[in-house]
Amino acid sequence: MRERGTHERSVVESILDEGIVCHVGVVDGSAPIVSPMAYARLGTNLYLHGAARNRTLDLLASGSAACVTVTLVDGLVLARAAVHHSMNYRCVMLFGVGATVEDPEEKLAASTALLERMVPGRSTVARAPSVPELRATTVVRFPIDEGSAKVRTGGPKDDPEDLSLPVWAGVIPLELRARPGVAEPDLAVAAPAPTVALGSRPNRSEPLAP
Ligand SMILES: Cc1cc2nc3c(=O)[nH]c(=O)nc-3n(C[C@H](O)[C@H](O)[C@H](O)COP(=O)(O)OP(=O)(O)OC[C@H]3O[C@@H](n4cnc5c(N)ncnc54)[C@H](O)[C@@H]3O)c2cc1C
Repeated sequence: MRERGTHERSVVESILDEGIVCHVGVVDGSAPIVSPMAYARLGTNLYLHGAARNRTLDLLASGSAACVTVTLVDGLVLARAAVHHSMNYRCVMLFGVGATVEDPEEKLAASTALLERMVPGRSTVARAPSVPELRATTVVRFPIDEGSAKVRTGGPKDDPEDLSLPVWAGVIPLELRARPGVAEPDLAVAAPAPTVALGSRPNRSEPLAP
């Protein structure tokens, strides 16, 4: 299925910018561990964050080779024949070695980007992280350097002799959608819930130092 693969940076970045969860795979000794995590893209890096002690981030920070994936499922592809059922998807697999972010400015920029990806503009209304809070957070930079995207679109690929079978075939589109916000009962402000539009979000295109 080589036609589904691409190394185009623009395709890779558009998938990363639309996803909200990545899966980070590392090897701990002889055992693999795969953790779902939030992420943000800033230029040519992904940023991950977590508690100061976190197995996956510790392994990444110590130079373990990692594989990070992001998957968007766009539809269920139903064919007349069982064997031709499939899914429409866009996914990225990245390979590389991460590094802990020590520079406070880069750490704050990454933390802000992670927040902005949840709801654009959120970092302008939420209380900014304090110095101790930032210190208690590990931020890891992972390069978008080696990797590829794989994309499937379109309907089922049934064999010609199956086309006359009395079976529904086609695509059931799937989407991730935000529902109306449920406010906390002790809100100190009478404000509407933010509107969240999932889909490709703005990301800074310029890389952060270093
Ligand atoms: C949508 C989503 C987003 C998330 N975003 C983040 C994020 O941005 N940052 C973040 O740090 N975390 C995030 N998490 C949580 C993350 O997946 C990890 O659970 C968390 O980071 C703890 O990892 P750890 O390295 O401390 O624990 P680990 O030691 O890796 O353990 C992880 C989990 O596996 C279980 N576990 C470990 N070993 C075993 C075993 N041998 N047998 C059975 N169970 C075991 C633990 O009980 C624990 O629940 C997210 C999770 C989800 C679902």
